[in-house]
Amino acid sequence: MLIDYHMHTPLCRHAEGEPEAYARRAIERGIHEIGFSDHAPMPPHYDPDWRMTIEQFPEYVESVLRVRAEVPQLSIKLGLEADYFPGTEDFVYNVTNEFDFDYIIGSVHYIDDWGFDNAENKARFEKADLYEIYAQYFDRVRRLAETKLFDILGHPDLVKKFGHRPSRPIDDLVIPALEAVRRAGMALDLNTSGLRYPCREIYPSRRFLELARELDVPVTLGADAHRPEHVGEGFPEAVALLRSVGYSTIRRYSARKAESVPLG
Ligand code: ZN
Ligand code: FE
Ligand code: FE
Ligand code: ZN
Repeated sequence: MLIDYHMHTPLCRHAEGEPEAYARRAIERGIHEIGFSDHAPMPPHYDPDWRMTIEQFPEYVESVLRVRAEVPQLSIKLGLEADYFPGTEDFVYNVTNEFDFDYIIGSVHYIDDWGFDNAENKARFEKADLYEIYAQYFDRVRRLAETKLFDILGHPDLVKKFGHRPSRPIDDLVIPALEAVRRAGMALDLNTSGLRYPCREIYPSRRFLELARELDVPVTLGADAHRPEHVGEGFPEAVALLRSVGYSTIRRYSARKAESVPLG
């Protein structure tokens, strides 16, 4: 089975195309199930230009339910990509329980006040020790998992997005994060959008995935589409990577309950 669980809608203000066009693209690409996972509302001052407002939240849910009716031949899940940021846990808990979501992706997009995945802010990678930045990022990932608010860890090594990589191995940073992910019963979002960015690599890296396989951490698949043509992009590479590391199943979700299905 092929799924794409990570795609956005125009409500987040930086994605284009009607949700129906994403669903049609999925069918063209031979994908069996999709899920929308637009950027969740966050507290008022948290990154408001990059997400729907709390007032638009019901509109988002309705738009996903509408595509379900418009494209009945495709299985369409209702998901959400929520941020992990210390201090917003109660808000995120309320938002993620307001509607009957099939799954919640949890993502780290900020290290303190630094939106590190925004190209406008990438100069900071040149100024600081990369190993230290990665340590901070993976510490956030560990804490994300420990909240138990999320089902799936979004783009697990997003910190590499612009191609900045420490010269030292990072296994000792990744393993505690992965162990927390496993304890929380979460899956990884094998996210092909890294192929579109300067890191030119799927999230997470092969090494990360090898460690995940050893710890028996499951995966989902997503292209993080912000326009219809992104849906299912890079999936042949993603499936090949997963198989080469020893994965033969992926996870799907309904009403926040996971099930393993054969990959491909
Ligand atoms: Zn986005
Ligand atoms: Fe994200
Ligand atoms: Fe996303
Ligand atoms: Zn994302």
